[in-house]
This record gives sequence, C-alpha cells and structure tokens, in this order.
Amino acid sequence: MGLRKDIGIDLGTASVEIYVKGRGIVLQEPSVVAIQRSTGKLLKVGTDAQTMLGRTPGEIITIRPLRDGVISDYDVTERMLRDFMRKSVGVQIVKPRIIVCVPSGITEVEERAVIDAGIQAGASKVYLIEEPVAAAIGAGIDISQPDGNLVIDIGGGTADIAVISLSGVVVSASIKVAGDRFDEAAIKYMRREHGLLIGEQTAEEMKIAIGCVFPTEEEMSMKVTGRSLTTGLPQSDVVTSTEMMDAFEEPVEQILEAVQQVLERTPPELAADIASNGIIMTGGGSLVRGFDRLITSRTGIPTVIADEPILCVAKGTGKSLDSVHDMQDGTLNLSRRNRFG
Ligand code: ADP
Ligand code: MG
Repeated sequence: MGLRKDIGIDLGTASVEIYVKGRGIVLQEPSVVAIQRSTGKLLKVGTDAQTMLGRTPGEIITIRPLRDGVISDYDVTERMLRDFMRKSVGVQIVKPRIIVCVPSGITEVEERAVIDAGIQAGASKVYLIEEPVAAAIGAGIDISQPDGNLVIDIGGGTADIAVISLSGVVVSASIKVAGDRFDEAAIKYMRREHGLLIGEQTAEEMKIAIGCVFPTEEEMSMKVTGRSLTTGLPQSDVVTSTEMMDAFEEPVEQILEAVQQVLERTPPELAADIASNGIIMTGGGSLVRGFDRLITSRTGIPTVIADEPILCVAKGTGKSLDSVHDMQDGTLNLSRRNRFG
C-alpha cells in the first residue's frame, strides 16, 4: 500500500491547508478561484486568484466557494479541491484517501456535499472530522484522556467553540461570526466614521496590521485608502488600533457570548479541568491582537494561542490519518460524528 498517499485537508472558508502523510503541510492557499464568466472556465486558483479579488474586469469573476464554513458553490469547490490535490500529490494511480474537517454544527446535507466534492476531486474515500477535534489534536493536546479541554477555533467563516474529552466533543457551539465578520465590521466602521468606502482586501489588511480587541500598550496606526462617499474620489485617512477596537465590538461580543454559553453548559468536572488546563485558541482569526488577553479577562481562565494557529486544523487532520491506518472497519474513533463515504 506504499503507493497510496493519504491526505488531510482543512477545507476552510478563508484558506485551504493540505497535509500529506510523511511530508507535513504541503499547501496553504486562499479558498479563491477566478472564472471566465462566458465559458465558466477556471482561470486561476488559490493565491493566483486572490490578487484578482475585487479587481476583475466584467469578463472574469472571482469566487470564494465556501461561505460561513460550508460549501456554497459545489462545482467550484470541487474544481478548486481537485486543483489543490493535484498540486499537493500530483496525479495518483491509486486514489488517495482524504480526511476533511467540517464545522461541528453542519447538517447531513452539508456533510454529504463535502464527501461528494472530495470523491469528485479524486479521493477514493472521504473521512470527516469535526474541526475543533482536529484543531485540538493539531495544537498538540492529548485529547484521548478523560480530561476536559476548551478549544476556540476562529476561522474565516465560523468560530467553533468546543469542550473535548475522551476524543469527543462534549459541548460545542459553532457561530457564523469569525474573521470575515471582522473585515465587514471594519468596512462598516470606515463608512460610518470616515465616510470612506473600502474593499474587503483593504479591510483584511487593516485588521492584520492594526486590528486589536484588547487595549494595547502602544497605539498603532496606518493610512487607509478608499473612495470618499462625499466626493467619490480616492481619499486616504489615518486609522488607529483604538478605533479598530470600536469597530470590532459587535463580532467580538458575539464570540464572547458563545464562549460563555459553552462554559455554562459544561459539566462541572470538565469545567474544573478547563480552569486548570486553560483555553487554547486556533485559527487565523485568533491572531487579532489581544484576543487571548480578552478571553482571559472575560472568563478568568488562562488562554493561549496555539503555535501556527492557521495550520492546527490541517495538522490535526493529518495526525488523525494514523488512526485511519490502524482501523479495521472504516470507522474513525475520533469523534461521534465521523463517518465516511
Ligand atoms: P479557515 O479555516 O476558515 O479558512 P483560517 O484559520 O485560515 O480560516 O483563518 C482565516 C482568517 O484569519 C481570515 O479572516 C484572516 O483574515 C484571518 N487572519 C489571518 N492572519 C491573521 C492575522 N495575522 N491577524 C488577524 N487575522 C488574521
Ligand atoms: Mg483553516
């Protein structure tokens, strides 16, 4: 069976990461494709398509085929996945088995779409793993113990909050408030407070450069250029990190509320474990400055951001591939929802 390459995939709203057994992370690209409108021809995928976002002439459209953590454009997702798989492992004589993570709250129909897309993209079998379980494994937590751990995974489309013990999800919440919402909040803020219209890419750049959710010692600022709502001409304004705290208030409060609700539903023994183990944050959205300190200050529970938080989920799916090898009957004993097609 040495010919077969097994692949772990984090099919994220914002980015796709691919882990190949024995090689580690081999691909990390944005979940974006560029398509020719008249023919439907796929022009560019991933990084190459990303630079075209918001800058396309009428004949070319850029699509992010996953929204809110689930497949919103099935055809395009499948073609994107096929392209990424080919880039990662080439064309395989023996089709690879793949394991893909999905948000913990998705429906059977949405799960089916992921499985079908994987099969269509060239997999022999598709296994699913719940995102927070994969995130916890990828963050280096031993989840097989009867010990509670709280994981907050903030991606592009969804924030997944889960208490994990004995390799399963005990309590969880998945909300459609994550990195994308922060970008939208920045756009709204700039329009409201500066009369400036900015695009999604500029908003994301602002978030990464000066975004913060907890008071920092040093205020940061940057020059942001967009189109003035009053003159209709290009205009540049200086924006500060303190302003970003204002801008992000709504999505931040929604995430905090979901964390609070998960904690309230956590059985007391596990709550005690979490209080001593702390909270671990994963996903690119957790990189907004001060998120760990904010969670600590609101919950009283020490919170850390995992190493390489964007890669945690893919690494976790990859590590769980080892259990696929061990298994006899095609069921993955990692979480109650794992199934395969
Ligand atoms: P997904 O798994 O849903 O694809 P990711 O884990 O890749 O999501 O995270 C994507 C989100 O993380 C995006 O909203 C992106 O803007 C945000 N992000 C990535 N890097 C940073 C950073 N350094 N600071 C703030 N946000 C970031
Ligand atoms: Mg991801």
